[in-house]
Amino acid sequence: MSSAPINFPAMEKANLLGMNRQDLETFFISMGEKAFRASQVMKWIHQLGVNDFADMSNIGKALQQQLNQIAEIRALDIVVDQLSGDGTRKWVFRLKDGNCIETVFIPEDDRGTLCISSQVGCALDCSFCSTGRQGFSRNLGSDEILAQVWLASRLLNEEKKPGRKITNLVLMGMGEPLLNYDNVVKAIDVFLDDFAYGLSKRRVTVSTAGVLPAMERLSERHDVQLAISLHATTDELRNDLVPINRKYPIKDLITSCHQFMEKRSPRSRLTIEYVMLAGVNDSEQNARELVRLMKGLSVLVNLIPFNPFIGSGYKTSSPEVVNKFRDVLHKASITTVIRKTRGEDIDAACGQLVGKVEDKSRRQQKFIKPRIGMHS
Ligand code: SAH
Repeated sequence: MSSAPINFPAMEKANLLGMNRQDLETFFISMGEKAFRASQVMKWIHQLGVNDFADMSNIGKALQQQLNQIAEIRALDIVVDQLSGDGTRKWVFRLKDGNCIETVFIPEDDRGTLCISSQVGCALDCSFCSTGRQGFSRNLGSDEILAQVWLASRLLNEEKKPGRKITNLVLMGMGEPLLNYDNVVKAIDVFLDDFAYGLSKRRVTVSTAGVLPAMERLSERHDVQLAISLHATTDELRNDLVPINRKYPIKDLITSCHQFMEKRSPRSRLTIEYVMLAGVNDSEQNARELVRLMKGLSVLVNLIPFNPFIGSGYKTSSPEVVNKFRDVLHKASITTVIRKTRGEDIDAACGQLVGKVEDKSRRQQKFIKPRIGMHS
């Protein structure tokens, strides 16, 4: 009697990189192990950068072998690894499905900030952002978000140079983090976990164009820093620059900001991001309107020089104009910082992260309407 060979479908191994402590505990309990294995393995993965179970000396040979059968610690392929003249380092990582995303490390005197992506491309279609022009493919999984931090810390560690440590994380790379809420908050769990990266909540920033329901959910789950990409003081202009404004207009956004801040400690501040576009939103009148909008809110305003790209239709405001704008805010006692552009020589600055979006079908089109004006 002859029988045809049986082909078992290849079982997908569980990627432990994307699991928070609760997930790992559930995973180990389901294997008949004790919950404390979760914190042991978490330390190996995220604090010691280990991705081979055989190196996890305190978990025993039998468990190591069992884990090898059903689990893995899978990061991403490195496609580009570039170092800018100013010390900024940018990576392009390839995902399993061929899509690419970008991650940037920005060193400063007192900190090292890693700017990470939350989606492949972006569906928001902000008119001044080149990531938006690439279209949108999909959300990143929590493993793909965490893999950026895991890989960057390993690679920076290998440099063996002082000041090359990740002390701050900002979700300001490709994508809108609050449209990928579940995976983003799971990754934040791991950023803050003392058995993993152990970052303080003040050193993790979620940047959003204003997805109001998700802002409310976030405030209940994590006490991290929030940055709002405002960029305009009237709905007419903001509808054009940040099309999600058509769904969540400025008045509602400001109300949500007040509600968000009410739950915070009195000393905490909201970051307001404002990209300076010559002749579009950079007049002293615009600055006075911004002062009015910010009334009663504890904020830090970040004025971002526009990073130009081909076909954008916008120009960067001159330093004189930016200074005048800042002076109006300062006079109203609003702390204002003019953001330095970093990593320009390697296209690593804000809005220059384009990755490689294979599927540009823009599955989340609900916010997108035809643009009006000079840059349509
Ligand atoms: N979707 C999120 C996070 C990604 S963008 C958000 O909107 O906040 C991070 C910041 O870079 C945002 O404030 C965004 O508006 C800004 N940005 C995008 N393109 C830019 C450009 N070309 N020049 C300067 N800043 C830009």
